[in-house]
Amino acid sequence: MKTRVIQVDPQQPSASALADAADVLSRRGLVAFATETVYGLGALATDPAAVDRIYHAKGRPPFNPLIVHVEGITQARQFTAVWPKAADRLAGTFWPGPLTLVLNRSSLIPDIVTGGRETVALRVPLPPVARGLIERVGQPLAAPSANRSNRLSPTRAEHVLSDLDGRIDLILDSGPTSFGLESTVLDLTGSPLRILRPGPIGPEEIAQCLGGLDQVASTREDVAGPPGELPASPGMLNVHYAPRTPALRVDAIEDLAKISWPEKPALLVLGPAALPDLPDALHLVELPEPEAAGQRLYSILHECDALYLDVIIIVMPPDQPEWRTIRDRLVRAARPVAG
Ligand code: AMP
Ligand code: MG
Repeated sequence: MKTRVIQVDPQQPSASALADAADVLSRRGLVAFATETVYGLGALATDPAAVDRIYHAKGRPPFNPLIVHVEGITQARQFTAVWPKAADRLAGTFWPGPLTLVLNRSSLIPDIVTGGRETVALRVPLPPVARGLIERVGQPLAAPSANRSNRLSPTRAEHVLSDLDGRIDLILDSGPTSFGLESTVLDLTGSPLRILRPGPIGPEEIAQCLGGLDQVASTREDVAGPPGELPASPGMLNVHYAPRTPALRVDAIEDLAKISWPEKPALLVLGPAALPDLPDALHLVELPEPEAAGQRLYSILHECDALYLDVIIIVMPPDQPEWRTIRDRLVRAARPVAG
């Protein structure tokens, strides 16, 4: 299969590009497009054969469910069995935006989308390209991150192409994504509500929006589920967001003293830090500020992979709320340095 790439204006995508992409989708094709978080790999969510192609292209295990991108609350309600008050408040406040809500699904959602679960993950993306595409197709789009399974999420069209060239039909290239980290996933089917994946919308904002309507918990420990059962949220499994280059993390800049540097190392310093003496041949990136760090993180890790470096040493950012999502991804991307 030949993968086509079409350049589109991120703010005002041309009607012909959207019509072209919608046509590919309605023929059960796969189209990668930018959301505000990362690039998604879209297919018609209501068509099991189209969704099956996503799993094939990504090499994604069938138990790992997909996020369904909808036009708005009205469409979301058609695909859920129950629409609780909390969903109404949260969707009203944060949609369109990087908050994914897990709700009980209606019979319109095929099994293959949810990996057999009775729940479905829904969100409304913000960028005009993503929204225009969903409107044009007139159907929700199942769209996981547009990367091979267990690889880094793509934040640029080039990342999608290097991972999925020849495996998907079309990429709409609208430039780099704005947040650069995956959406917050919030499970509304139980009590307390549970954050299954930390992301751009934090627990404080969610709690504030709910104003005491429901309790919110950020559970990490039990999302993998008991042995032998379906994981509650595979996105929370370890080694989910890892680069190909071996990556090691240290908690503080002083811990760099423990490193025996190979020939071609990268050093990624997150958070404010005064650097000690370091080897000359070092691919050094400093990201002192959380917002820019989130936007650039995956791109930098992709770059390290492309340069075939020997190792990526990561100095972790401080354990503070504004660094929460980045810390979550880094714990999965890198092993702690021994000693
Ligand atoms: P991706 O779009 O590749 O970032 O992956 C989507 C992630 O959303 C999955 O790995 C899960 O963690 C989460 N997810 C999707 N559907 C559900 C669901 N029904 N229940 C729980 N988590 C879900
Ligand atoms: Mg993913």
